[in-house]
Amino acid sequence: MDIEALRRDTPGCAHRVHLNNAGAGLLSGQTLRAMTAHLELEAAIGGYEAAEQERGRIEAAYEAVAELVGGRRRDIALFDNSTHAWNAAFYSLPFRPGDRILTGRAEYGSSVLAYLQIARRTGAEVAVVPNDESGQLDTAALAEMIDERTRLVGIAHVPTGGGLVNPATEIGRITRAAGVPFLLDATQSVGQFPVNVAELGCDLLTGTGRKFLRGPRGIGFLWVNPEILGFLDPAVAEIEAAVWDGGSGYVWREGARRFETWEKNYATVLGLGAAVRQALDLGLDAIGARALALGARLRERLSELPGVTTHDLGRERCAIVTAAVAGLPAEEVAAALRRQGINVTTTTPEYNQFDQADRGVHPLVRLSPHYYTTEEELDRAVAAVAALATAAR
Ligand SMILES: *Cc1c(COP(=O)(O)O)cnc(C)c1O
Repeated sequence: MDIEALRRDTPGCAHRVHLNNAGAGLLSGQTLRAMTAHLELEAAIGGYEAAEQERGRIEAAYEAVAELVGGRRRDIALFDNSTHAWNAAFYSLPFRPGDRILTGRAEYGSSVLAYLQIARRTGAEVAVVPNDESGQLDTAALAEMIDERTRLVGIAHVPTGGGLVNPATEIGRITRAAGVPFLLDATQSVGQFPVNVAELGCDLLTGTGRKFLRGPRGIGFLWVNPEILGFLDPAVAEIEAAVWDGGSGYVWREGARRFETWEKNYATVLGLGAAVRQALDLGLDAIGARALALGARLRERLSELPGVTTHDLGRERCAIVTAAVAGLPAEEVAAALRRQGINVTTTTPEYNQFDQADRGVHPLVRLSPHYYTTEEELDRAVAAVAALATAAR
């Protein structure tokens, strides 16, 4: 990868040390141009006419997402974010009293709330699989807990609040053997390192455009295993999802688009397509190798600083680094770094409910480099954190 050239075509690199790719990655010029070109076309010839003219490129965006996860174009549905993609999958599963949903301690805030709502509504039970001593999901415990009442295993691949990579491939082996659907929230992993549905053994996978994929905000996607499609009952029937049969019924549209709504922001769809295509061209192996190495380097350097503790769990860790500075609240660390042009965020206790209940460590400072981050930028961030830690002692 020619990092310098990639940075030259990333407007944000000129202004900021951007360590918030777990929040929203920086758009590349290529992606930005794909989006602005479509907005200009809409303004010039009309929105419907522009979509008609760009039909091929719009379908190519679905194709790119399919290629990214190792699926087929017809098994991809697009949404306005990852949460709605996840909801489309989750709320289409039938649950009855006594059914069990198994999840992990790294689960995302909105998913936890959805589990609780469905438990209340249907009488299904939610059971949280413990972590092993490394802090990743305990796959032996999962294998023991999964039984004939289990209707779903829902897991975050990488949580929003830390550098953990859950053992998704092993989880997929267990769910396949048990014949239980596996919903994988890959929002933080797509675009960061290779993610392949066949290797992972999942049945439903969700992702977002804006994070490590460096796509636009306001778009997300779902991949559905075609073998379970007929078993799902989409929560919403509307004119994109279904076709009226002329009488008192309707038929679902072919493939995963039965989960979609009709209206879309096509500039955003094309932006997602451009961002995914760029990631595929660079190669997810190369992206993953560099992003994870930068994450490891940052984690190690921060953990060596007096007064700084890193808090990432698990055997396998990614480009998300979480840290605490003794004597200085996370929000103040983040604000001080932002004033120096270094973009970081903090984790939120309520978005990491089970993890917070276990460890009580949030909010933490969250730093998330990506492949286009330079070693010099990491040095700058580490020096800035070191100065804050020294001043706080
Ligand atoms: C950001 C995030 C989500 C939600 O994605 P949106 O696109 O904001 O809806 C879900 N899961 C995890 C792990 C996340 O980090």
